[in-house]
Amino acid sequence: MAIRILSPEVAAKIAAGEVIERPASVGKELVENSLDAQATSITVEINGGGTALIRIQDNGTGIAPDEVELVFQRYATSKVNSSQDLDAISTLGFRGEALGSIATVSHVSLLTRTPNEDAGTLVEAHEGETIAKTRQGSPQGTTVTVRHLFRNVPARLKFLRSIASETGRVQALVTRYAQAYPEVRFTLLIDGSTAFASHGAGNMREVLAAVYDLDTAQAMLELGPGAEESGVLDPKVWGLIGPPSLTRANRSYMTFFVNRRWVQNRLLGYALEQAYHGFLMERRYPIAVVNITMPYQDVDVNVHPAKSEVRFQKENQVFSALQRTVRQTLTSVSPIHQIQTQRPSIAAPGTVWRGQEPAFWPGGLTQTSEAASLTSLPPTLPLRSALPVLRVLGQVQNTYIVAEGPNGVYLIDQHAAHERILFERVREAMRRSLSETQSIVEPVPIELDAEQDELVCSQRDLLKRSGFQVEPFGPRTYLLRGVPSLMTQADHKEAFLRVLDMLNEGGGFKDWHERLAYSIACHTAIRAGASLTQQEMVEMVLQLEECQQPQTCPHGRPTMIHLSSGHLEREFGRR
Ligand code: ADP
Ligand code: MG
Repeated sequence: MAIRILSPEVAAKIAAGEVIERPASVGKELVENSLDAQATSITVEINGGGTALIRIQDNGTGIAPDEVELVFQRYATSKVNSSQDLDAISTLGFRGEALGSIATVSHVSLLTRTPNEDAGTLVEAHEGETIAKTRQGSPQGTTVTVRHLFRNVPARLKFLRSIASETGRVQALVTRYAQAYPEVRFTLLIDGSTAFASHGAGNMREVLAAVYDLDTAQAMLELGPGAEESGVLDPKVWGLIGPPSLTRANRSYMTFFVNRRWVQNRLLGYALEQAYHGFLMERRYPIAVVNITMPYQDVDVNVHPAKSEVRFQKENQVFSALQRTVRQTLTSVSPIHQIQTQRPSIAAPGTVWRGQEPAFWPGGLTQTSEAASLTSLPPTLPLRSALPVLRVLGQVQNTYIVAEGPNGVYLIDQHAAHERILFERVREAMRRSLSETQSIVEPVPIELDAEQDELVCSQRDLLKRSGFQVEPFGPRTYLLRGVPSLMTQADHKEAFLRVLDMLNEGGGFKDWHERLAYSIACHTAIRAGASLTQQEMVEMVLQLEECQQPQTCPHGRPTMIHLSSGHLEREFGRR
């Protein structure tokens, strides 16, 4: 194809894609505009996942009648004048391209009235062209209605996920902004019914109660008081963080705002996790809503069109202010650094190993008397394990745990061992209907193929007993509302789909209980190559000791290799 310059209309569509990727991006730009217009009440309405309709109504300043048409033009903004203004941006918007971009890929109508006018102004734009401007009655503020999003950009329409998924993103967006702006009243209507509402009373805890639940909101710790005494002032860190007892299996409950802009920044996540270090078990993450306030010129928000990435001038300062403030709050409530340890209670006390002896396994381990004769066992610990007491020495190749026992050295395969532990736990919890579920705050919509769909239908009860909460949500579509608590994967959907696939395949098990227990264990177990802390290794060995068949993985391969003292002596020619 010959080289030529794109027509302005085509170029505009391409550029629009940078900011306007999906319904939630429209929602984000419009909500930000309402917040910049000092609205105290914002209603977001979406139908059909946002492709049919997105409407944002605010009670903000409104737009003067003679300026209304300008809003759809590129780089039309009231927020930035000179390039110097870009060095210290105090508004959420500044690029002046959102409304223009939205208008090129949809039908937009904007009705607005300032406090000085008696009547409002209505302006409409279809696929980039302003088609009408009329006077019309209007409440004070601005209502932007976006219809037929991407109807003229089929490629982008195809790229969208299911209605439920796009709806979920808009919901996440609105709840996030509600957390950052507790003084603004947010209402979200999905296909006509209220899906979320905040009071706008200025109380962050109240918003969290609406986003999560009352218990969670009440348990949260206030961040920041006492910061002045300790000199942590710049930047200022405030918000609410979860106590160490309230954790989640992934990072998606850690929310950050910089100068009240929602940001995604790895540094902030890392600083928060560092602050919790020692308070939480490995691979557990806090719930947190952290606000960071700093001089506008110290943060660059002009990094990406979507404006959710930022760069800090003084990274180290931000990092340490966040870490110190969080740490201080945590130590003030629990001065002793306690690692929570979960003691599994699977095998009944006195249970004796009754597994087959694997090929690699030299004799000796099946003799429980060996463990019983050891004096180092705390008296309260029930002697139920077929393993001798092991003292963890370290990790080799991030894959094997090296331990010392009464009769030599043990190499434990961390993945196989963990698989065994989880397999027995899940199986037992299912049998006793005691599985714990970890609820997902923003339920994840999942589309299944015919085979998966059938599997979920036929094994619904079993899935439920293992801790999965799946709910029908349309043809071949389900809402994933919860996963077994011990599944620590960040991506719930991916984890669920992988479990389904393995369940279908069978993993070598006939019994459905065992199939499911194995599928969950296999995908959740720590991998070879993962570095473990001493504490984690000790924990794992303790848990392994409590298994009914600690010496083999669920498939019968060894979880450990024993180099007996006699073997070592022979090898070294000591006897
Ligand atoms: P930006 O927000 O980057 O300035 P936009 O294209 O989003 O660019 O909006 C263009 C201009 O339209 C804004 O600068 C503002 O003056 C005006 N505007 C947009 N939405 C609203 C609103 N909800 N209330 C008042 N003014 C608005
Ligand atoms: Mg804007």
